[in-house]
Amino acid sequence: MKLLIVEDELSLQKALCKGFAKLGYAVDAAADGEEALERYYSSFYDVIVLDLNLPKLDGIEVLKEIRKEDPETRIIILSARSEVEDKVLGLDLGANDYLAKPFHFRELEARVRALLRRDFSVISAKITVSGITVDTALKKVFCRGKEIPLTRKEYGILEYLFINRGRVVSNETLLEHVWDSNADLFSNALRVHIASIRKKLPGDIIKNVRGQGYYVE
Ligand code: CA
Repeated sequence: MKLLIVEDELSLQKALCKGFAKLGYAVDAAADGEEALERYYSSFYDVIVLDLNLPKLDGIEVLKEIRKEDPETRIIILSARSEVEDKVLGLDLGANDYLAKPFHFRELEARVRALLRRDFSVISAKITVSGITVDTALKKVFCRGKEIPLTRKEYGILEYLFINRGRVVSNETLLEHVWDSNADLFSNALRVHIASIRKKLPGDIIKNVRGQGYYVE
C-alpha cells in the first residue's frame, strides 16, 4: 500500500514516514501544498495523509483540487486546528477522515487501515487463504498459528495480493502500490521478491498468469 504524507513540520513528516515504512507501506512525502499536488499527479496513492496548515498552498486547497475529478483517493486530514468548523469543512469537501494534532501514531495507522479495508471491502484485519493468514493490523503473516518471517517488501506484496484475492494484479500495479516513487527498481525486482515469498510459504499460494501478473485464489 502506498501513502503520501503531506506535512511541513519536518520532524513529524520524518517520524510518520519512518513509522509507516517500518510497517511495510511504500511512503512518499511532500512538505507543501504544491509539492503535494505534483506528487499526486505523477503517482498513485492508496491513502493521502494531508496536513491543513501548509506553505504555498493550503491543505484545504489541495483537497479541493484533488476532489475536483477524483472522488476515489482516500484522504485523511491532519490538523492542529481542532475547531469543529475546520473538521466539518474538510469532511464536506470530501476528506474521508480527520485527525486532530497531537495524535498517536497508532491511531493514525489504525485509521489508514480502516480506510483501506473499507475500500477493498475487507471486513476483518485478518485475511486467510489456504491456511495462510495475513494480519494487516500486526503486519505479520502466519501459517497455522506460526509466524512466517517476511521482509517488509515481501509483506507488502503478499498483503496487496491477499487484499485483492481472486483478482489478477498486474506487475505494474504491484510496483505502484508496494514501492515508493524514489525506489531504484531493477527490472526483475518483483520476480525476485515473489520467488523469495514462495520459498518461505508452504504450497503454491501465489499464482502467475504469464504476461499479466499474479494472484492468490
Ligand atoms: Ca503544518
